[in-house]
Amino acid sequence: MVGSVAHGAKYYPVAGSGEKPARHRRRSGSGCRVLAIVSPVALPDARSLLGLLRSSSGEMVRELEELTSAESPSSDLAATAACAEVVAEMGKTSLAVAPERIELAGRTHLRWRFGSAESRPPAVLLVGHFDTVWPLGTLSRWPFSLDGAGRATGPGCFDMKAGIVQMMHALRLLDDLDGLAFVLTSDEELGSPTSKALIEETARGAGAALVLEPSDGGALKGARKGTSLYELHIAGRAAHAGLEPERGLNATVELAHQVLAICDLADAPGGTSVTPTVASAGTTTNTVPAEASLHVDVRAWSLAEQSRVDEAMRRLTPRIAGSRLELLGGINRPPLEWSCSRRILPRAERLAESLGLAPLESVEVGGGSDGNFTAAAGVPTLDGLGAVGGNAHAEGEWVLVDAMPERAGLLALLADELRRSPPG
Ligand SMILES: [Zn+2]
Repeated sequence: MVGSVAHGAKYYPVAGSGEKPARHRRRSGSGCRVLAIVSPVALPDARSLLGLLRSSSGEMVRELEELTSAESPSSDLAATAACAEVVAEMGKTSLAVAPERIELAGRTHLRWRFGSAESRPPAVLLVGHFDTVWPLGTLSRWPFSLDGAGRATGPGCFDMKAGIVQMMHALRLLDDLDGLAFVLTSDEELGSPTSKALIEETARGAGAALVLEPSDGGALKGARKGTSLYELHIAGRAAHAGLEPERGLNATVELAHQVLAICDLADAPGGTSVTPTVASAGTTTNTVPAEASLHVDVRAWSLAEQSRVDEAMRRLTPRIAGSRLELLGGINRPPLEWSCSRRILPRAERLAESLGLAPLESVEVGGGSDGNFTAAAGVPTLDGLGAVGGNAHAEGEWVLVDAMPERAGLLALLADELRRSPPG
């Protein structure tokens, strides 16, 4: 992830005194606490909503433990499928509706669509993932735990199982989920190879998309770089390195030329990084290598930059006569640009203030998410609405437990307001 740039927080007035206050009521006959929220939400009601969520924070922690304890490394289909069942059950208990289980290439994703969202694009689409970057067995040396400072820790708790728990608690506050949908996927950490189309299909025509990825120290993610992923295969010719090396075409040397040519495509001042990552070449120590391969990670703030690099990657030519190049991959996630998130951001800032929370900040980050796909589908998108905590993808990732009800409250108000009054 490239360095974050904080943008000054802006303040927006709370709903004017002439507007109707929010009404909260319990839904009769329901086993769980359910509130109806009628926008605009006045300050005292927003705070009582927060009080209610805070009284559920013990339950949130228990659910976070349950979800974190269902290990789900992206590449393990059985583990992610088992975790999907835990998530499905949690959603069914919270919202009294079972999800659609969508199997794509042997992988399970979950989707809930409510009321009109079953037949039309949703007014608000919530997006998250339950896969993690942590291999199976991580839990045995790093079990879920809660420290004295109110931090919960465990593999995948911050990115982004806490976001799922918060979302469930946010949605169960609404007595009517009409027009809402959410998709929870199992391959986000791989670049969403199978869920990309599902997310795009569900997002097409939606009024707004809210992404449950973790915050950046509490700040929302107002912009994300686009990501392109490539795999370059180099074919040379093998020969004995001692007897007749001159008969070979050395794929390792060709690889070296290509690595340098690829590095030259970056534009550091413009924020475009082009990074050769995993490379391999050769078979034995005394053979001129016949084959080599290289992975390349590209990040850029604009689609134009991604396209410039893409065209240049496709023009790469071998430097050693007779060797051949084959390029796989391309633009994976287009950027999530400020212009897209600003269509929702002022509302989030105002609603956070109505809850009595610290002013919301928003940042731009180098890492991509599924929010890039919803933005590319033309849907106003706000990302980073998940957990407050730290160390994403790193040892000791943690979640600030006190912030879980706060973020759930913000999400409930935001989803409800966007559903009733779509962004312009
Ligand atoms: Zn994530």
